[in-house]
Amino acid sequence: MNYDFSEKEFNLFIDIQEKVSRVAESVQLDRKDPKRSRENIKQVLEQLAQTPYLQLGLQPVEGYQGQLSLMGAAEVLAAVSPSAYLSVEASTRLFGRAVNEWGDNSQKAKWLSPLLEGQLIGALALSEETLNIENDPLTTKGDRQGESVVINGAKQYVINAPIADWIAVAGFCDDAYALFLIEKETPGLTVEPAIETLGYEGTPISRIHLDNCSIPAEQIIFPPAKAEMPQTLRMWENQMLLGASLGLSKTAFESARDHAKTHRSGGKPIIAYQEVGFKLADMLTLFQTSQLLAYRTAWTAETNPKEAGELLLCAKVFCAESAETVCSEALKILGGNGYIIGNNAERAYRCAKYVQIAGTSTEIGRVKIGDAALGYRD
Ligand SMILES: Cc1cc2nc3c(=O)[nH]c(=O)nc-3n(C[C@H](O)[C@H](O)[C@H](O)COP(=O)(O)OP(=O)(O)OC[C@H]3O[C@@H](n4cnc5c(N)ncnc54)[C@H](O)[C@@H]3O)c2cc1C
Repeated sequence: MNYDFSEKEFNLFIDIQEKVSRVAESVQLDRKDPKRSRENIKQVLEQLAQTPYLQLGLQPVEGYQGQLSLMGAAEVLAAVSPSAYLSVEASTRLFGRAVNEWGDNSQKAKWLSPLLEGQLIGALALSEETLNIENDPLTTKGDRQGESVVINGAKQYVINAPIADWIAVAGFCDDAYALFLIEKETPGLTVEPAIETLGYEGTPISRIHLDNCSIPAEQIIFPPAKAEMPQTLRMWENQMLLGASLGLSKTAFESARDHAKTHRSGGKPIIAYQEVGFKLADMLTLFQTSQLLAYRTAWTAETNPKEAGELLLCAKVFCAESAETVCSEALKILGGNGYIIGNNAERAYRCAKYVQIAGTSTEIGRVKIGDAALGYRD
C-alpha cells in the first residue's frame, strides 16, 4: 500500500484549488441562485476540463493513480466549494461513469466526450419516493413501442436535474435493469423547480416525473446483470461522498485553526486556552484518520475489489460522522462568528448533515457492516 502523492499529483491539487477559487471569487458557487447555477457550474467544469480531473477514475491518465489521485483532488475541490463539487461529481462520476462503464462506443462518443470537455452537464436519478435500495424494486419502467421506449415513473431529489443537459434515469426495461438517457425538454419529462435544502444550496436539486416520455431505443444503457446496477450506483455515490466528507472536514478545521490563532478573548489569542487546542487536536485526528481510510478505500477499489465493498461502508460511516463532528466543533471555536451565516464552517456543518443520510446512510451502513462481520453477506 502506498498512499503517497507524487509531485505531479500535488501540482494538480494546487491547480484545482487556484482555478476553482478564481471562479468562486467572481460568482457565489455556494449560494442558491437558480438563474446563474447552470452558468456557474459550467464555468467550474470548463476550468476543470483544462486539467486531468474530469478523467480521473474513468480513464487511465499517465502519471496519476486513478481513484487515489481522484480522492486527493476531490478533497481539494470539495473544500473550496462543496456545492460545485457535488454538481461536478454527480455529472462526472455518476452520469459519466455509468456511460463509461456500461455504454457502447456510440453512446460514449455522444455523451462521454463532451462531458470530459466540460461541455455537458449530466444527472443520475436513482432514488424514488419510499425506495430503500436494499429491499424495494425500482418502479420506473420503459415499455417498447416500435423503435422507441415509453417511460413512466418519478424520482425525488435529483442533483443537477434543473441544469442538466441529459438525465440518466434508473429503471426497468425488458425485465432488466436499464438507464434511460433523457435529454432536457423531452416531451413527457417534467423537471420541477429547484428545491430549498439545508446545505449545498449552490447545487441545484429537484424532483422529476416521467409521464409517457418517449425516447429512441439507442438512448438506453443496459448494464450487465452481474453489475447489480442499483448497488453499484450506490457504491459510486458513497465514493463521491467520501471526497465530500474530507473537503468539509478540511475547510471546517482550517477555519477554526485560523480563527483560534487570530481571535483574541480575555486578553489573549484563544489558542492560548488549552481546551481550544484540545478541540483542534481532536478535529485534526478525526480528519487525518478519515483521510487514511478514504485513501485506503480508493487504493483498494482498484487493487482488491473483494475487500473494497466492506471497507467503503466503514469509510463512509466514519468519514461522514467525523465530518459532522469536526464541523460542529469548529463552530464552537468560532463562537458567535461561527453562528453568522456565510462562513465556511457553518456552511460545511449544514452540508455535513447531507453526507450522513445520502448514499448508504450511517444507520444502514452500520447494519451492513455488522452483517458482513457476521458473514451474512460477501
Ligand atoms: C439534497 C439531496 C440530493 C439528492 N440527490 C440525489 C440524486 O442525485 N440522485 C438520486 O438518485 N438520489 C438523490 N437523493 C436521494 C438520497 O440518496 C436519499 O434521500 C437517501 O438515500 C436516503 O433515502 P430516503 O430519503 O428515502 O431515506 P429513508 O431510506 O426513508 O431513511 C430514513 C431513515 O431511516 C433509516 N433507515 C432506512 N432503512 C433502514 C434500514 N434498512 N436499516 C436501518 N435504518 C434504516 C435511515 O438511515 C434514515 O435514518 C438526494 C437526496 C437529497 C436530500
